[in-house]
Amino acid sequence: MIPQLIDTHAHLYGEEFDADRDAVLARARAAGVERLLLPAIDAQTHERLFGLCRAQEGYCLPMMGLHPTSVNDNPHWRGELRLVERLLAEPPAGIRFCGVGEIGLDFYWSADYRDEQTEALERQFELALAHGLPVAIHTRAAWPEMTELVRAYAGRGLRGVFHAFTESAATYDTLRACGDFLFGIGGVVTFRRSALAETVRAMELRDLVLETDCPYLTPVPRRGERNEPAHVEFVCRKIAELKGVDPGEVAAVTAANARRMFDPGGAAEGADDTGGAPEGRPSGERAPEA
Ligand SMILES: [Zn+2]
Repeated sequence: MIPQLIDTHAHLYGEEFDADRDAVLARARAAGVERLLLPAIDAQTHERLFGLCRAQEGYCLPMMGLHPTSVNDNPHWRGELRLVERLLAEPPAGIRFCGVGEIGLDFYWSADYRDEQTEALERQFELALAHGLPVAIHTRAAWPEMTELVRAYAGRGLRGVFHAFTESAATYDTLRACGDFLFGIGGVVTFRRSALAETVRAMELRDLVLETDCPYLTPVPRRGERNEPAHVEFVCRKIAELKGVDPGEVAAVTAANARRMFDPGGAAEGADDTGGAPEGRPSGERAPEA
């Protein structure tokens, strides 16, 4: 158990958890997970997302956005985008969105929808700016394109998390220079022969948040099983080992980073914001908000 863990990227509303979601939530709480951030995918799962967040108000915080792979080969993607826009403008009863996500570029499955994905991403960057919300960015087989796009937004106040960051220290330096961005580290850092582990040594704790991306990307020592929020503890312990610090410090700093980015009001129950974030990034530093 490590107090103050925050899983900043969990798809706990997925049908993979229908059989035992309450037990998964109980294990998360027992592991010290104080909050889960839940990115949207597309309209097929919105009601599941809202239902879980209403039932776990203050513990499961929803985002709203259209995932890049839901743009691919989807004749209705512009309608989906309008739905995202409507929902952000008028959230359903009992729902307060903490971010715009997950959005991004994914050319792994197909690069045929590059233009459509880019249009969807830029539109959602604009929505995030209009609503003053952070973004949760998914990038797969598209880092050069993503870096170029984010660089074009430098100075406009775009902020958020590069979810499932697995790139080099050089890319980290380039992206952090573009604005107020954090980097989501998940199970990949625990994989044997993971290049990410070396990168994380060079990254600053104040730039990191923890995530599972459950049910995917299960960390060692649970490889082969379905991933779940409680496993964020293994990610925390691995980062602590790489940085040579106490796991409690990794949890406290990354949780403070996540709260600052996604929940500055500290509205969630169980949050302990009273101690501030001495190790976190001081407010105002490198934060070019408009
Ligand atoms: Zn995701």
